[in-house]
Amino acid sequence: MKIFKFGGASVKDYKAVINVGEILRLHQDEELVVVVSAMGKTTNALEAIIASFSKGNPSETEKLILELKDFHHTIIQGLGLNQTSDLLNEITPIFDWLKDKCKGEFGDYDFEYDQIISLGEVLSTKIINNYLQNENFKSTWVDARKLIRTNNRWREGRVDWELSENLIQAEINSVFENGNRIAVTQGFIGHEEEGYTTTLGREGSDFTAAIFAYCLNANDVTIWKDVPGMLNADPKYFDNTVLLEKISFKEAIELAYFGASVIHPKTIQPLKRKKIPLYIKSFINPREEGTVIQESLAFDDNIPSFIFKMNQTLISLTPRDFSFIVEENLERIFGYLNTQKIRVNLMQNSAVSFSFVVDHSKINLEKLVDFFQEDYLVKYNSSLELVTIRHYDEPTIDRVTIGKDVMLEQKSRHTARMVLKDLD
Ligand code: ASP
Ligand code: MG
Repeated sequence: MKIFKFGGASVKDYKAVINVGEILRLHQDEELVVVVSAMGKTTNALEAIIASFSKGNPSETEKLILELKDFHHTIIQGLGLNQTSDLLNEITPIFDWLKDKCKGEFGDYDFEYDQIISLGEVLSTKIINNYLQNENFKSTWVDARKLIRTNNRWREGRVDWELSENLIQAEINSVFENGNRIAVTQGFIGHEEEGYTTTLGREGSDFTAAIFAYCLNANDVTIWKDVPGMLNADPKYFDNTVLLEKISFKEAIELAYFGASVIHPKTIQPLKRKKIPLYIKSFINPREEGTVIQESLAFDDNIPSFIFKMNQTLISLTPRDFSFIVEENLERIFGYLNTQKIRVNLMQNSAVSFSFVVDHSKINLEKLVDFFQEDYLVKYNSSLELVTIRHYDEPTIDRVTIGKDVMLEQKSRHTARMVLKDLD
């Protein structure tokens, strides 16, 4: 059994869905669990609907829902499925539910978020499964909300592996025993104890693929992307990128941790535990080899990798009483960051100051300053770049620091990290 994952870009319009069908045709002799994200930018569109609903803006909300409905109907039409009443009978109630929901009371933000945001994956998998059946694939739709059990930390559900394993095995085994060859299911979504929908965090569909692989002891996982595989840098920021043909789980975890955005950071751990190889391949050139992430460390230091995080803010806290940055101060600082769900990209401390780097767009700086300023002198610096180089040497460092001021630097044996500011 193999697990395939198709992200939003690989199903962004009807032609992309047809392409997914063509890739699946190349693997007809396999049992496949196909994990799919919401189509194109649907998750962002749903976020806009949630924001509008939360602000009590009914006409705007309704307009946004109609746009999303049109977007999906255009795809359905392009696939020639608009005459298939069973698909429309499934899609229409989803939009009706959403419209009704948005006319009601808005409750807890994160709870409402999960109940609504999850519809993107439900819609995409309904359409894709119907298309595959229409193309005579032995495909069936599986509801991941019933199979992946998490706690009720909305928007960041933590997986209960044992319960999920039982649920997934029972369902998927019966799907294949009934003569199906393909199970189409949703990335990103699950349920909590009471049955409410939870999500695994933005871009969490890769992780879903890994959860299915782990629970089913799959042979391998393939993530189909719009890039040829894992590159040694993001081509947006770097010329002459090189394909990493083969790297270890350990290296991939490091790269994902430092912010390489090709795979979701949580994806590797479950695969590593069971030594299930992960392929990253191009959905544009599906016959190319791409990257394989596997157990052996032998190939890791062949090529230096560069990870760029833009729009970073460096924040420094100095206790006003000049107390040392030890357990008590750290506990306060991390306590706040944890309750605000703020991810720290890099941190460093001296005797009396603690500095950390965060994504500017993911924090409320004013609120943060407000919270700390009574007890700490708070300094910050925005519009910075955080660059990580794995398997660095001096020329690679020179290459990224040219024309920049290095505000903070950390080096270990394999990794150099620098916070940079443009010199201008
Ligand atoms: N659709 C979700 C998102 O855009 C999950 C995913 O694509 O992995 O974040
Ligand atoms: Mg995506």
